[in-house]
Amino acid sequence: MVIIDSASPRFVAPKDVGATLDAEDDEDDDDDEDGDNNNNNTTKQAGEEGVMRQVLRAVQVRIKYEESDAFPALGTKRMLEYLKSHNWCISRCDVPMIAKKLKLDHNIPLFKYYYTKLVVWMPHLQFGHMPCCINCKDNNKVGVPGYPSHPGRMVVDLKENYFIMGCRYKCNQCKKDKERLNAIAKAAAATAAAATAGADVEVEVTKINLQYTFIGWDSRVLPRIPRLFNETSRC
Ligand SMILES: [Zn+2]
Repeated sequence: MVIIDSASPRFVAPKDVGATLDAEDDEDDDDDEDGDNNNNNTTKQAGEEGVMRQVLRAVQVRIKYEESDAFPALGTKRMLEYLKSHNWCISRCDVPMIAKKLKLDHNIPLFKYYYTKLVVWMPHLQFGHMPCCINCKDNNKVGVPGYPSHPGRMVVDLKENYFIMGCRYKCNQCKKDKERLNAIAKAAAATAAAATAGADVEVEVTKINLQYTFIGWDSRVLPRIPRLFNETSRC
């Protein structure tokens, strides 16, 4: 039995508490070169995620649907319309309404304490043109092949923490160039191997390091969006 004398003051050093809700525990695939992890959003079940991540995922799924060919031609793109009229930002106080519209099974009175602001950063929707490729600096052959497996990233700000959601872009020209350079390197290695046949020489194929997919908030992309600094969204 432990008797605590509450009259005697004592110093108690509580253990460090680590916040686990909506922690950034998934792998950082922002720099995933080939974008193979796009459209793997179903790998994480909503039940395993934090409250705000469920909102993020539902918003991402809805944006994808509204952007897809499967969306009815005469349908109303409610999510995109909402975002356009709210500076591409869902304020904390609007999250319960969005969660309800997206049919999330949330206990709003309780969960509202976990909600945060959500900023959507998709330059092709916001500025009407694709961002420039990080290599060739051109946007002619840039497309949206899909979305990252994580629905968003947490931003730790001075006043508050919030989430930002984006999508992955792919430059088809740089992809083509990479394939071409790889083929040239392979052919050169084969020629060298044939020329040195019988000799004790090892021929190595050089791997072409050319990144052709990139996330919308890549620091090499932002300076090439001229209107960015004139239209900084606040909410
Ligand atoms: Zn490119």
